[in-house]
Amino acid sequence: MGTKIVAVLNSTGRQAASFVRAASAVGWHVRAQIRKREGFVAEELASLPNVQLFEGNPAGPDRSQLLSALFCGAKIAFINTTHWGDEVAIGKACADAAKRAGVAHYVYSSMPDHSTYGKDWKALPMWATKFAVENYVRQIGIPATFVYAGIYNNNFTSLPYPLFQMELQDDGSFEWQAPFHPNDPLPWLDAEHDVGPALLQIFKMGPSHWKGQRVTLAFEKLTPLQCCARFARGVGRPVNYVHGPIKIAVSVPSGYREQLEILQETLGEKRAPYFGPDLEYPREGRSIWEGYRGIEEYAREVFPIEESANGLRWMDEEGAETPSEIDAEEVEQDPRSRPMTPAGRPMPSHVTGAYTPRSHPEGLDDNFFVGST
Ligand code: NAD
Repeated sequence: MGTKIVAVLNSTGRQAASFVRAASAVGWHVRAQIRKREGFVAEELASLPNVQLFEGNPAGPDRSQLLSALFCGAKIAFINTTHWGDEVAIGKACADAAKRAGVAHYVYSSMPDHSTYGKDWKALPMWATKFAVENYVRQIGIPATFVYAGIYNNNFTSLPYPLFQMELQDDGSFEWQAPFHPNDPLPWLDAEHDVGPALLQIFKMGPSHWKGQRVTLAFEKLTPLQCCARFARGVGRPVNYVHGPIKIAVSVPSGYREQLEILQETLGEKRAPYFGPDLEYPREGRSIWEGYRGIEEYAREVFPIEESANGLRWMDEEGAETPSEIDAEEVEQDPRSRPMTPAGRPMPSHVTGAYTPRSHPEGLDDNFFVGST
C-alpha cells in the first residue's frame, strides 16, 4: 500500500544514519548499505524495524553488484558519498545504478566547489568531488535534489582533532581556535538530530517541488563568537574563540591536510562564504524542519555524553567559574568582550541524546572518520 522503498548509501555515517532512523520510524522500507556489520551504529541499524542491510564496500571490486542489489525496487534514494575510495567514481556509479533502477527522487549530499565562482578561491578538494558528482547527476537527468550540509555540531570535541577542538583549559573553560573570521557567519547543523526529519520532508515534497534545486541543511547561522557564546551557555563554562591557524596536533592523512590548508586559505584568509555566495540559510532549513537542535542544546545535552563516551571526565569535575551577571546575548553581540562568560546555567544531572564515541587519536590514520568537514 504505497510503502516507500528507499536506498541509502554509507548508512553508518552521521547523515545517513539519521535518515535511516527517521525513515524506519515512519514505516518506510529502508535498503541500507553498510561497509561492515561492526560497531554500535551498524548494530543499532540492524535492530531497527523495516531496515534491510546491504553489506559491501562501494569502493571495492563488487561495487556494481552491491549497487544493483541496493537500488533494486527503490523509488527514492539518499546518497552521501565520502572520501573513502574514488568519491567521484562511487558517486557516478550510484547515480547510474539509481537511473537503471528507475529511482524517481534522488537526494545527493553535495558541497560547493569554490573555484567555480571566478573569485580567486581554491576548491576544497574533499568538497569539489561532491560538486563533480552533483554535476554528473544533473547531466544524466535523474529527478534530484542536492542538499548542502552545514558544520556538524558534534564536530566539536576536546580531543586534539584539527579545526573543531574545544580545548579544555586549566581553569575549566574551553577554547576553540579556528581560521574563520570571528564575525563571519557559518552554517550549523546537528547531523544526527536533524538530517533525518529534514530529508523525510524533502522526499514528501517530491522532486517536482525542488526542481533540481540546492537545499541547505543548516539550522543556525552563527559567527564563531556567537557559536562560542551559545556553546558556553549550554555547557555552563566560558568558551573563548581564538582566531588563528588550524592546529594540527596529531598525524593526519595527506589528503585531509590539504583540505585543511585550503580551507584555511579560502574560508579563513579570503573569507569566502562557507556555501559560496549563492546559497542562503537558515531560513530554508527551518522552513522544512522546525524541531532542530541548536548548538546550545547540543552543548548542554549531548557534548558531555560524547566526551564521556570518549573517556573524558571533565564533566564530573568542578566546572569553571561562570559569573551569571553578564548577559550572554550581550556577549554574543560584542566581539570585544572576552573571555565570554555565560549566564551560568547548571549542568543537568542527567542528559540524553545520540552520541558518536570516538577513539583517542594517536594519529588520524586510514580509520579516521571524524570531522572531515
Ligand atoms: P561520518 O563521518 O559520520 O562517518 C564516516 C563513514 O565512513 C562511516 O560510515 C564509516 O563506516 C565510513 N568509513 C570509515 N572508515 C572507512 C573506510 N576505511 N572505508 C570506507 N568507509 C569508511 O559520515 P558522514 O558525516 O555522514 O559523511 C561524511 C561526509 O560528510 C564527508 O564527505 C564530509 O566531507 C561530509 N560533510 C561533513 C561535514 C561535517 O561538518 N563533518 C559537513 C558537511 C559535509
